[in-house]
Formats: sequence, C-alpha cells, structure tokens
Amino acid sequence: SSQKISSPLPPVSEDSITSGSGSGVPRMVQSTIAKQIDLKRMIGEGRFGRVYHGVRHCEHYAVKIFFSRHESSWRREVDIYQGIIMRHENIVTFLAADIISNNGCTQLWLVTEYHELGSLFDYLNLNPIKNVPQMISIMRSIIFGLSHLHLEVIGTQGKPRIAHRDIKSKNILMKSDYSCCISDFASATTKALNDAKILSGYDIPCFGTVRYMAPEILNNTINMDRIEEFLYTDIYSLGLVYWEILNRLQLNDGSAHCYSKPYQEYVSDEPTFHDICQTVCIDKHRPTISHNHQLMANENLILFKIINLIQECWTENRFARLTSLRLKKTIIDLQRDI
Ligand code: ADP
Ligand code: MG
Ligand code: MG
Repeated sequence: SSQKISSPLPPVSEDSITSGSGSGVPRMVQSTIAKQIDLKRMIGEGRFGRVYHGVRHCEHYAVKIFFSRHESSWRREVDIYQGIIMRHENIVTFLAADIISNNGCTQLWLVTEYHELGSLFDYLNLNPIKNVPQMISIMRSIIFGLSHLHLEVIGTQGKPRIAHRDIKSKNILMKSDYSCCISDFASATTKALNDAKILSGYDIPCFGTVRYMAPEILNNTINMDRIEEFLYTDIYSLGLVYWEILNRLQLNDGSAHCYSKPYQEYVSDEPTFHDICQTVCIDKHRPTISHNHQLMANENLILFKIINLIQECWTENRFARLTSLRLKKTIIDLQRDI
C-alpha cells in the first residue's frame, strides 16, 4: 500500500502544469507514482540506497530508493525539493516522493527527471571539453544553479539560503543540451542545524564527501552555527569540480589529459578523512593545474582568468573565497568577452 506524502505544493491538474524545467514533463500528482513507474536499470548506488532509470507511459524518470534506515536523509532531500522556489533549470527537477510498503519492507522513493547523459563525472570520463567557450558554458550552468540555491529571497514567495554540502561531479547531472543541473540534496541544509554535529569518536562530519571537503571541515575550524559557513564550503568544492572540467580541456594540438579526480596525484582511490586532511590542510596541496594548460593560459586571457577564479574558490581562507553571486557575475562577464 502506498502512503500519501503531505505536500506544500498546491493541488495541480496533470495537464495544466509542467515541471517548470521547460521540458514539458507533467508534474505528477504525488503518491500515484510508485505503482506506475517500471524500474528498468540501476544507474547509481550510494550511501543511502540505489538510483534506477524508470519508465512510465514512455516517459523517463530517475528513481532514487532510500533504505528505510536512511529515512531522515530521504526526508531532508524531499523537504529541500519541495521548498517553493526550488524550480530552476540548473537544479534537477523533482517530481514526486513516495513511501511504499512491500511485504513489510519499507521503500522511500524520490522521483526526478531522468538525464540520460548521467553525471558530469560520467560525462568528463567519456568526453574531453572541446574549447574554452564550451567550458565556460558548463561552468556557467553550474554556478547559476548553485547561486540560486545560495540566494535568500525574502517575501511570500521567498526561499531561505540552501547549502548543498555535497557538491561534486557525481552530484551534478549533464542535460541533453549540455548544460548542467545540481542534484542529490541528501546532505543539504537551510539552517545551521545541530545536524551538522561531528560524529563523536570519529570527528568525521555526517554529510558530504571526504575528497571534496573544505579545509575548515577537515581541521574542524568551521563554525557550524552559521549557514554562511556552509556556503563557503560549497564554493571550495565547486572549485574542485571546475578544476575537473578544466583538466579535460583539449590542448591546442587536439589532445586532452585523461579524466582525473581531484587530488588523484596525492591520495589513493578511496582516500580516508585523514588522507585528505593531510593533503589539503597540512601539505596544503590543491589539484595540479597542468603545465600544458598554464602554457595555453599565457596566450588566452580568458583561460588565464578562469584559472585564477578556480584558485579563488579553493583558497584556504574561506572569507577570501568568491561568493556564488560574484562568481556568477564574473562568469557572465567572461562569456561576454569571448
Ligand atoms: P546518492 O545520494 O546515493 O549519491 P544521487 O542522487 O547522487 O544518490 O544519485 C547517484 C547517481 O545516480 C548519480 O551520481 C548519477 O550518476 C545517477 N543519477 C541520479 N539522479 C539521476 C538523474 N535524474 N538522471 C540520471 N542519472 C541520475
Ligand atoms: Mg550523490
Ligand atoms: Mg548523496
């Protein structure tokens, strides 16, 4: 049996309202979803559960199924998506949430629009970035999504600041028009809740991904009572994502470096919290900007500016990092100068 989820969305008729992403996908009536979507293939597996490609009436969906022990993560993600002004072309379109009981086993569903190109991580593994304009347009789409999340809007149609807290290339999806949208809000927060508590004994936060953690999280100098602090950590992680994109930029001779994860030159494939802390906070490394790209930047002012901008995102002093609004404006200007 399927249980209804209370929703702050007004009741809608299936025909009249679309998902708001411009795709024309109808925003489905909550709670009718689970029974009707046919799960095809597993496309992702993570800490909280599995993600499937599903089909209903020839329409495609991504269905994230949380293990019931991760109900709080599911609820967090659903609550974030259901916030009124979350609809944005650079934020994955949420369609429905559902709780399903199957032979005494509870499944928590979260349905979003399906993007067949998968994550930015998948895309960069398979494809180089052809030129600087393509690189800027991908970067632009990501910062448009992130700055929308970070922005506080006051008023009846308002929205609080949202910190994502798990920005990485696997949590950014590539749309068929080659712009990106931000996904996976299971670590997101609107308030510096006490949920940000460090797990006692381990000193490892219960959100985010170690490889992408900002120095102030790694060395526990972050002030978790302030939401702004988590906006700074998002910008640090974004700097690493921007580097992943830059590192795949084709060189003048048409070749490109292989995809590399941030800090791959310093840590093993499954780095521990301690490994990353050593690399980022003690040795003060940052991902290596290849010699080839530095040479290219000597002749390409826009590339030169992008490299500076990446370095301003991942700087150790969090107060010196660019804000998402500043970053957005800078990237708009760079695109204009091409
Ligand atoms: P987790 O919290 O387990 O990391 P995610 O929501 O990040 O779950 O999804 C895991 C993976 O599934 C993503 O990295 C991506 O490859 C794939 N995925 C998730 N949502 C979609 C989607 N809407 N369209 C296509 N692929 C998706
Ligand atoms: Mg994820
Ligand atoms: Mg996640």
